[in-house]
Amino acid sequence: MHDTLSPETQTATALGWIDRETDAMAAPLRPSTSFLRDPANPGRAGRIFTRDDNPTYAQAEALINRLEGGAGCLLFPSGMAAIITVFQRMAPGDHIILPKAVYSGLRDWAKQQGQPWGLEFTFLDSYDARSVANAIIPGKTKIVWVETPSNPTWTLTDIAAVAEVAHSANAMLAIDSTVSTPILTRPIEHGADIVLHSCSKYMNGHGDLIAGAAVVAPGREDVLKEMASKRNAYGAVLGSFEVWLLLRGMRTLSLRVKSSSASALKIARFLDTHPAVAQVLYPGLPDHPQHEIACHQMTGGFGGMLSFRMRGGEQSAKETASRVKVIRQAISFGSTESVIEHRVGMEGADSPTPRDLLRLSVGIENVEDLLSDLRQALDHSAPMST
Ligand SMILES: *Cc1c(COP(=O)(O)O)cnc(C)c1O
Repeated sequence: MHDTLSPETQTATALGWIDRETDAMAAPLRPSTSFLRDPANPGRAGRIFTRDDNPTYAQAEALINRLEGGAGCLLFPSGMAAIITVFQRMAPGDHIILPKAVYSGLRDWAKQQGQPWGLEFTFLDSYDARSVANAIIPGKTKIVWVETPSNPTWTLTDIAAVAEVAHSANAMLAIDSTVSTPILTRPIEHGADIVLHSCSKYMNGHGDLIAGAAVVAPGREDVLKEMASKRNAYGAVLGSFEVWLLLRGMRTLSLRVKSSSASALKIARFLDTHPAVAQVLYPGLPDHPQHEIACHQMTGGFGGMLSFRMRGGEQSAKETASRVKVIRQAISFGSTESVIEHRVGMEGADSPTPRDLLRLSVGIENVEDLLSDLRQALDHSAPMST
């Protein structure tokens, strides 16, 4: 029945599962590491040990899978663990195409771990079908990696266009959809083979757990199977209590994402008119370079993440971040409260991020409180008229 229901209903009801044993409406937490063997048939299939599988995973994995329209979902102890498990399927010599503007943890992994291991990476400045097609090495390119909108400039990639290029080269299209969430974008419908999430962000949404998820498209069950076997082999399993918290957090996913998106659009429009701000990077603004892609690929909002560049440069960006009061200066995003970050300071020396850029994660506070907080922080930094 839940197949035909909207994402709002799927999340609010957590697919409507009821605990068979107790009729409990909230999911039970089952921390057991071991499961009783059948004495007559100890080799039978079924749950054995929680590193393979735990019943607490089932509902959260089913919900994420349903929201994405996938063939199966696996939870991981972090977004990075989910992402790296995709690369663990590769062999030395395999080639991977990535955007330059990508989650910095992945860029660091590629350079510090992936390359020494023998994987080859091409980092692209712009990420459209043509530049990806030019970067393909026939027979060697195994993964085309997309993050949309991507950190921290919020550029979008047309998933369907890049899917065509990737598939014609027999490469897999992987989408890091952490920022969009399945509420705003369903990459599998546009041709993605695998969708990754850091559930530490919007999926859980309360800033109190680290988790990740991978969803494979129908027809890519082989990838799911291999990833499940890697998850077990490397021991990359999420604790059952964290899974339980994640499912609890996801019940309000749709409400939170829509509220953040609506507030982010108002804030982006405000920043766009402020004299201290040189540029606002937000897919919901008509002058965003991929606004048209955002309009057809994103549904129900343009997300809660935006960045803005200060006319007064790096110093002014740092000062502004230190002057906000309701918004807190901190890393991460996708929680109930808004946070701001001078991103380049955190990303390190080889970061392509502009030095005057502030990244803002818009939470679910009253938007007027956020606007007046930003106003008081920015009014100090209006450039002097000379
Ligand atoms: C945070 C993040 C990750 C990494 O997730 P963790 O849960 O912190 O390991 C990956 N991709 C994106 C886009 C992220 O924001």
